[in-house]
Amino acid sequence: MVHRRLAKLLHKLLLRDDVAIYRQLLICLCLCLGLGLIFIGREQSIHQSQIQKTTGNCGAVNTAIKLPTPVKIAEVVVDSGISRTAPSDEATRLTPLPKNTKATITSTKGDWLRLDYGAWIHRQETRTFISNTSSESFACDIYYRKLEAKTEVIFPLQTPVPISVKQGDRIFTLTLHNTTAKNKIMPINNNPIISRIFWQQEKPKRVKYTFNLKNSQQWGYKLKYDENNLILTLRHSPFTPTFTPISGISGPLSGIKIVLDPGHGGIDSGAKSQDGYLEKDINLIMAKLLQEQLMLRGAMVYLTREDDIQLSLGERVARINSIEPAIALSIHYNHTGTKKISQKRQGIGTYWYHPQSLGLAKFLQQYVVKNLGRPGDGVRWKNLALARPTVAPSVLLELGFLSDMEEVQWIVDSQEQQNLSIVLADSIVEWFSSTR
Ligand SMILES: [Zn+2]
Repeated sequence: MVHRRLAKLLHKLLLRDDVAIYRQLLICLCLCLGLGLIFIGREQSIHQSQIQKTTGNCGAVNTAIKLPTPVKIAEVVVDSGISRTAPSDEATRLTPLPKNTKATITSTKGDWLRLDYGAWIHRQETRTFISNTSSESFACDIYYRKLEAKTEVIFPLQTPVPISVKQGDRIFTLTLHNTTAKNKIMPINNNPIISRIFWQQEKPKRVKYTFNLKNSQQWGYKLKYDENNLILTLRHSPFTPTFTPISGISGPLSGIKIVLDPGHGGIDSGAKSQDGYLEKDINLIMAKLLQEQLMLRGAMVYLTREDDIQLSLGERVARINSIEPAIALSIHYNHTGTKKISQKRQGIGTYWYHPQSLGLAKFLQQYVVKNLGRPGDGVRWKNLALARPTVAPSVLLELGFLSDMEEVQWIVDSQEQQNLSIVLADSIVEWFSSTR
């Protein structure tokens, strides 16, 4: 309407009409000024609501709470600090602590530090310092953002607190220690994986956030601190509508990223058969055969090693974390140990650690055993480095026993290796389709 008036006015001016033109010019100027003021007002209110979102009822976020007397603090300096139930490398692992996590040290034993929430951590993975700011926090105004193939949930805190994670059937829980919840979670609408988020203050300084999930298959998660903001990334199914296949290859696994990790390598030979076959060599052969079969089905396959080189467990895990595949499989062959060499033990075994990997482990085991007619050595829960990545369902396969003379013949037969790679690739295709 303003445009039209201005156009009309311009038209009249050009035609050098009477003095009424000046009255119209005044009306137009008033209209423009009015609209401008409304616009500025709106901008200001948007800006204010954004500020409210980041400060909430907690006052200024990122401001640590001051203490009357100083305390000794441990800060995690590695990407994933190993927290344990007792001061020993043998003690049960708790949820790893993201880099920059801070907690008060309550006691020490040798090189181990006991943190205020009850866990122990090796001194090597921390820096310690005296501080007059508290390692406690409030959690306010949790919000989330839906990104390409993942959802990020952001917890603005005053200090990076220790955390614990638990996965269950259609449930993911995140516990923040040393934390008091202060209301508001942004309502969740139309998220591909989360149906509901709620929290419970379990103890005066421990709050548990529960995420009800839409599907039973969980596709991996990451936790990190960005200054005092805890960022939980929950990955979506690779088949959600937002997913666009990266490669142009068609097939049931089109655009799906898979990491294969051939176990051992270099001076680490792994298990050895009586007649001298080395596990590291067979692992690599099988990984390459499986890579070929998966690529034929459209997958993008990454190997952690392509040659006979040594690679630490940490390097393998780091590669999985950076590639962020849909699944990761570590390929191994088993051995009963020298003392039990006479024991007859054969078959394929799968190992999982996080509940998000159990479905995959079970499915692969059952499918391969059934379709190849091989003995099954069971689906086992085990605390193994290559079963521990959280970024994707990760399973370690033990495809047979090099300690069993009879099974070794099957293991090293090139035709049988080819058959195994085809059946494994088919089992992966079937598992993916079962999750859709
Ligand atoms: Zn091995």
